[in-house]
Amino acid sequence: MENQTLELASEFVDLLFSVLPNDKMLPLHEPDFFGNEQKYLADCVKSGWVSSVGKYVDQFEADLANFTGASNVVVVVNGTAALHIALIIAGVKRDDEVLVPAMSFVATANAVSHAGAIPNFVDVSQDTLGMCPKKLKDYLKCSTEQTSGGIRNKDSKRFLSAIVPMHTFGNPSEIDKICEIGLEFGIPVVEDAAEALGSYYKGRHLGTFGEIGVLSFNGNKIITTGGGGALLFNDPDLSAYAKHLTTTAKVPHPWNFYHDRVGWNYRMPNINAALGCAQLESINQKLHNKKILMKRYKKAFEASKNFKFFASKLSCNQNNWLNAVLLNNPSNTLKEAIIEKAVSRGFGVRPAWNLLNSLPMYEECPSDNLSASKMLFDSIINVPSSPQLIDFG
Ligand SMILES: *Cc1c(COP(=O)(O)O)cnc(C)c1O
Repeated sequence: MENQTLELASEFVDLLFSVLPNDKMLPLHEPDFFGNEQKYLADCVKSGWVSSVGKYVDQFEADLANFTGASNVVVVVNGTAALHIALIIAGVKRDDEVLVPAMSFVATANAVSHAGAIPNFVDVSQDTLGMCPKKLKDYLKCSTEQTSGGIRNKDSKRFLSAIVPMHTFGNPSEIDKICEIGLEFGIPVVEDAAEALGSYYKGRHLGTFGEIGVLSFNGNKIITTGGGGALLFNDPDLSAYAKHLTTTAKVPHPWNFYHDRVGWNYRMPNINAALGCAQLESINQKLHNKKILMKRYKKAFEASKNFKFFASKLSCNQNNWLNAVLLNNPSNTLKEAIIEKAVSRGFGVRPAWNLLNSLPMYEECPSDNLSASKMLFDSIINVPSSPQLIDFG
C-alpha cells in the first residue's frame, strides 16, 4: 500500500475505535431482541397457528398502519415480494420500463424484472443519496414522448409505467418533488422504503407519499421478522387487491377453493408476524439508540480533512439505519484499501452496492448519465450501525 493510503486507512480505523472500542467482530447491522419476542413466539407455537393465518398477522398489519400512518398495510414474505406486487398493482406490464435509481440494493431492479419489465436507471443526488428529482425531470423531458397509450421511451418505444425512488440507508429522497413529477408525467410512484421504517419527511412517514410504499423486515433492517416485508397504502381498495394477489387470489369462502386469477403465495406466516409485533413495540428504543450512535460518529469524523460523515441536506427526522462516511477524494482503490484494513481490525464496514447498471443482467438496460452515483460509489463506506452498539461508549 502507498504511504498516503496507509495513513488514511489508519486514520479511519482510529476514528472507528474512538466510537467503538471493540475487541471482537462488529457486524454492520445486527438484530436485537430485548422485548416480548420470546413470549409472542411461544404463544404462537402453543396456539398451533404458525403458518398462513393467525391473529399476529392482523395485529402486525394494524400496528404498522398505526405506526406509519398508512391507512392499510399488507404484510408479505419479504421486501422483494412486496415490491413485485406493488409494481403489478401500479400497472407495470410485461416489456414496460420502470425508472429506478442506479444506486440501490439489487432487489429494486429484480422486482422490476420479476414483473417482466426492464429497469431504466436514473442518477441519485449527493445531498440525499436518493433519486435526484431534477435529473429525473430533465431525463423524462428529453428521453420520452407522450402517446395515446401513455408515456414512452423515445428510443426503445417501451412504456414507462412506474417510478421507484429508494430512501437510501433510511435518508429520505425528495419524495414530494418526485411525486409531483410522477403526477406531471402521469407515472405512478412506488416508494422503496425498505430501509426507512422510522424515517419521516415533512412530518410524514416514508412509504406513505407514493401510490404504494414498501418495507422490508430482513434480519439486517431496523426491525426484523426473520424475513418479511409490507405494502403500505392510502387506499383500502388497493390494499384489498394486494391481499388477494398475495394469498393465491383465493375468493374467500368457508370450504370452496376458487381462485379467480394467477396469484402468489406471498403471505407472511403468523410466526414471523409474532416476531414483528414484538420488534415494533421496541422500535422507539432502537431509534433512540441509533440517534446517539449517529451523533458519536458525526462528532468523531467532524475534525477529519479526509472524511466526511454523511448527513442529509434535507431537514428530516430519519432512522439512522446505516451510517455512512464519505471519502473527500473519491477513489475506488483507496476505499477498498480502507475497508480491508477496517475489516481486519474487526469492523463490519462495507461499500455501497455496485451500481445496478454495472451488474451483468442489467448492463444493457437504458440509463441516464449516472455521474453522481459513480462518484458516491467511489466514496461511501458504511460503518457498524446496530442500535445496541451505544453500550460501548
Ligand atoms: C432490504 C431491501 C429490499 C428488500 O429486501 P428483502 O431482503 O427482500 O426483504 C429492497 N430494497 C432495498 C433498497 C433494500 O435495502
